[in-house]
Amino acid sequence: MNWEPWTGCYKESDGCDNCYFYGPHAKRFGQNVIEKTDKFDWPVRKNAKDEYNIKGGKILATCFATDFFLPEADEWRKEIWAMIKKRQDIDFLILTKRIDRFEVSLPDDWGDGYNNINIGCTVENQALADFRLPLFLSYPIKRRFIACSPLLEQIDLTPYLQGIDHVTVAGESGRDARECNIDWVKNIREQCIKQNKTFWFKSTGSLLKCNGTVERINPFKQVSRAKEFDFDISDGKKLF
Ligand code: SF4
Repeated sequence: MNWEPWTGCYKESDGCDNCYFYGPHAKRFGQNVIEKTDKFDWPVRKNAKDEYNIKGGKILATCFATDFFLPEADEWRKEIWAMIKKRQDIDFLILTKRIDRFEVSLPDDWGDGYNNINIGCTVENQALADFRLPLFLSYPIKRRFIACSPLLEQIDLTPYLQGIDHVTVAGESGRDARECNIDWVKNIREQCIKQNKTFWFKSTGSLLKCNGTVERINPFKQVSRAKEFDFDISDGKKLF
């Protein structure tokens, strides 16, 4: 399930270039205006029987169509942390390109982190990995993973893998998507095998270079095409 407490976003780094929240389409549809959605307090909303609308035991993918750590959401995020704390029976999955803003608006009782939050730090290239991952590893977070998405070049994650649980990789989607090379994906997978980390090749993206040929892949087949490589390494736990 997805929970988007706010909507809108704007470019943060190289991987944002073709995001639909950024650029001419964003301006046209107003998606770069950051505002609360009508689902802002969804996890703590109750029905007439005083039961939560969202039952426990779920995974809520939070802010997958915006960014959890946007400066415009600093005040709102304080309320979100409180809701997350209240719903210990739900796992909140947060993916961000702004991990350097993690400590802004953190609650006083954060301590070593809440058990029910799994944070994914996105890194699209080596420079961003070398900037974001040392910060990511320095913060008190109990469960963390790396998302190479969109993967724009070969990345050496070796120095950072010890402190994380899992890596996901995806190519870029869209009409102007940049190529993803299957060799880069294989290389990251090998790094994960060496350090005993789980791995998920989530999507090929629109352009996949494979054995010297570039394949254009229909948006509806990018996930199934990635599955065909049989690259995933799982420990049986569900991430999404
Ligand atoms: S941070 Fe994410 S949602 Fe925001 S512009 Fe970049 S890719 Fe899009």
